[in-house]
Amino acid sequence: MPKKKVLVVGAGFGGLTVSALLAQKGWDVTVVERHSTPGGRARVWEQEGYCFDMGPSWYLMPEVFEEFFHLFGKERKEYYELEKLDPYYQVIFGNGERVTITPDLEQTLQTFESFEPGGAKRLQEYLTQAQYKYEVAMRDFLYRDYRTVWDFFNRKLLIEGSRLGVFYSLDRFVRKYFRDHRARKILEYAMVFLGASPNNTPGLYSIMSHVDMNLGVYYPKGGIHAIVRGLVKLCEEQGVGFLYDTEVKSILVRNGKGVGVRTSQGEIEADTIVVNADYSHTELKLLPEEYRTFPLSYWEQAVWAPSMFIAYLGTNRRISSLAHHNLYFSDAWDDHFRSIFQDPKWPEEPSFYLSCPSQTDSMVAPKDGENLFFLIPVAPGLPDGEEFRESYFQRMLDKAERILEEKIRPYLRVKRIYSQRDFSSDYHAFRGTALGLSHTLRQTAIFRPPRRSRKVKGLYYTGQYPHPGVGVPSVFICSVITANGIERDLKEEGKRA
Ligand SMILES: Cc1cc2nc3c(=O)[nH]c(=O)nc-3n(C[C@H](O)[C@H](O)[C@H](O)COP(=O)(O)OP(=O)(O)OC[C@H]3O[C@@H](n4cnc5c(N)ncnc54)[C@H](O)[C@@H]3O)c2cc1C
Repeated sequence: MPKKKVLVVGAGFGGLTVSALLAQKGWDVTVVERHSTPGGRARVWEQEGYCFDMGPSWYLMPEVFEEFFHLFGKERKEYYELEKLDPYYQVIFGNGERVTITPDLEQTLQTFESFEPGGAKRLQEYLTQAQYKYEVAMRDFLYRDYRTVWDFFNRKLLIEGSRLGVFYSLDRFVRKYFRDHRARKILEYAMVFLGASPNNTPGLYSIMSHVDMNLGVYYPKGGIHAIVRGLVKLCEEQGVGFLYDTEVKSILVRNGKGVGVRTSQGEIEADTIVVNADYSHTELKLLPEEYRTFPLSYWEQAVWAPSMFIAYLGTNRRISSLAHHNLYFSDAWDDHFRSIFQDPKWPEEPSFYLSCPSQTDSMVAPKDGENLFFLIPVAPGLPDGEEFRESYFQRMLDKAERILEEKIRPYLRVKRIYSQRDFSSDYHAFRGTALGLSHTLRQTAIFRPPRRSRKVKGLYYTGQYPHPGVGVPSVFICSVITANGIERDLKEEGKRA
């Protein structure tokens, strides 16, 4: 019997992982990607000997990756090498005070004790509850295929849900433990990874502190793109085919069933379609109105994750004050979140993230130079004309030089700014969002867009939009659920036939 054909739209982490999984299950898989290279938001930009990871830079939850490769009877290290960072990251506060979070938990406890008396004990308690929530979430929540609302609102999950802090905000939760603003910022900063604010994110996400402080922060040798290269190798071993520079223009639907796609290069037939491209783009641009799961108003009213103001910078001098990951937490912490979620505008006193992978990896910058990735989360949908970008960049660079007490500008050799309109044009991102839908309670688990189209049979989604959501490990988990769901649906259909 000929293999069933599946067409995957997009070669981001979602597309690559679901393709490998489906090919292993015996499907004939073709990936169609509009860009000439794989990785999606995790592509690279190479210039004059500098190699920049364009998107993700934090490698967290290593067990998710190890488990993924085990599904193929493989070891992750056959595909890329991993290094544990030390320090995990450096934090600089508004007054210039610096602390590092390292693999030495005792040192972190003492740092919290220095913030406020009893801080060490409370951090230990906080991490214990975070670990408990993480383990329950991994066992019962994250890998779950929520098909109906009853899969979420069952008695067990409602009881566990309130214990896990699904129903109140992270900010409220953290304040029960700490009064000191430095402690709170360290425990809340990771919400930006989820495209959310501590005020509107469920307390469940305190698991992120277990993720960084206990499980650790890692770095794949060669950068995050090494994972992409590893996945492409895995896909090729499983027989997946790739069509690059091919844009999907529409999804073909016959009698309510997805039967293929129309691309910039012609039509391709398929039995099943899995979309990794941005969900809103697929619904609003690739499907006729009658086949959309959601109307335009759904997307207009959604809480969108931030866009980002990014500068990729290459210097010809080492910058001694930087760790691999550096976080600057401004005194205007709350104002910055407000400028993203309540009162959209470019922040004047933002917190920022500065990554310097050349501190760890000599391959990503020429000798004696640094590879810098400067990032400010900003509200989606802000205008970002050329002139504004440049003047904002210059102001932010002044600020960064002041904070680091080190000059960068005279040593800049390579510079590229990437923001709102690049996310829109490269990924068809709604309002230029970098991360898709925010992780508010009403956009968590069953409330995220479904992985099965409600209107088109045989049309599925993977990536950062369906449950569990934003972030590279979540996208890997999403593909495992989607691939298993497709197989299960097929079996159920077979039984009915
Ligand atoms: C700046 C930034 C920093 C981040 N930092 C981290 C981090 O440190 N750690 C972490 O875990 N996560 C991080 N994230 C989040 C993480 O990168 C994303 O959640 C994840 O990469 C999303 O993967 P995806 O496969 O869902 O989507 P994408 O990577 O967007 O892939 C979608 C693919 O679909 C393609 N496509 C779109 N439309 C079409 C079409 N019509 N036809 C054909 N192809 C199409 C796109 O070109 C793209 O390749 C970061 C994200 C950004 C943007």
